[in-house]
Amino acid sequence: MEVKRVLLKDYTTLGVGGPAELWIVENEDDLLRATEAPYRVLGNGSNLLVSDQGVRERVIKLGGVFAEGELTGWVGAGSLLPLWVQEAARAGLSGLEPLLGIPASVGGAVRMNAGTRFGEIKDALAEVEVYHRGKLERLPPEALGLGYRRSALPPGAIVTRVRFDLKKAPREAIAARMAEVDAARKRQPKRKSAGCAFKNPPGDAAGRLIDQAGFKGLQVGRAMISPEHANFVVNLGGATAREVWELVKRVQNALNLELEWEIWGEVEP
Ligand SMILES: Cc1cc2nc3c(=O)[nH]c(=O)nc-3n(C[C@H](O)[C@H](O)[C@H](O)COP(=O)(O)OP(=O)(O)OC[C@H]3O[C@@H](n4cnc5c(N)ncnc54)[C@H](O)[C@@H]3O)c2cc1C
Repeated sequence: MEVKRVLLKDYTTLGVGGPAELWIVENEDDLLRATEAPYRVLGNGSNLLVSDQGVRERVIKLGGVFAEGELTGWVGAGSLLPLWVQEAARAGLSGLEPLLGIPASVGGAVRMNAGTRFGEIKDALAEVEVYHRGKLERLPPEALGLGYRRSALPPGAIVTRVRFDLKKAPREAIAARMAEVDAARKRQPKRKSAGCAFKNPPGDAAGRLIDQAGFKGLQVGRAMISPEHANFVVNLGGATAREVWELVKRVQNALNLELEWEIWGEVEP
């Protein structure tokens, strides 16, 4: 197991976040040791706003046996979802197409029930292995309480492996579906971000509401509400968590929106 001091801005897609102790676990023994003191689990860091002061808890990242696997068997939760989306398409197996373009780890995607308007990961799971209080348990997806960008995993539970529920399909049909999902993503900003900042309220789109309220292009320091997609906060290079949080607060003072991101550490000034 590797343990090192890192800056979490190097481990998040937004490129924001201060120091932490990173524990890269390779196997079950490592998992037991790493979870002996308070910890957080890091996936691909694509849904996180991390404090400039970093976090005090250990940050566990799944590597080794938890970052490998087989498409038709158990897949490590530390591996990247986009790789499996592509591999399934190559193998003529359907089910993961709606998840095209989501830069998640498999475990983070399960934890957030990641998805698009075409479908969610919840519909592509056969079984999920979860580590909790020193034990690994294999559960049906229904046991995880997966809903719109949420799960009911108990605090401290770590998704370690999953089995996908995929069906044979003609490759052309899979490619056509993926092209459709891809086309819908084209409007997304290319700059560093953590995806959608706010959840969509029932029957509406957070991006539309933020746009309508005139926030597109609003900048604080090096953080900006994307002019392309109002539900994205982008890092123009060197943004701090404080600056990003200031934008979040301004939107929330005007609109009653629930954050989709998870906040790590202290971001309030
Ligand atoms: C450009 C861009 C586009 C995006 N598009 C979408 C989209 O279309 N749909 C969508 O749903 N999301 C989207 N997102 C957001 C993000 O990719 C998802 O929320 C994703 O599920 C987060 O996964 P992660 O591995 O990066 O998790 P992290 O951001 O690392 O962590 C998120 C949460 O999951 C927990 N977690 C991570 N791994 C595990 C594990 N193994 N076991 C238990 N808990 C774990 C963390 O502790 C944290 O609570 C986008 C993000 C970006 C940057």
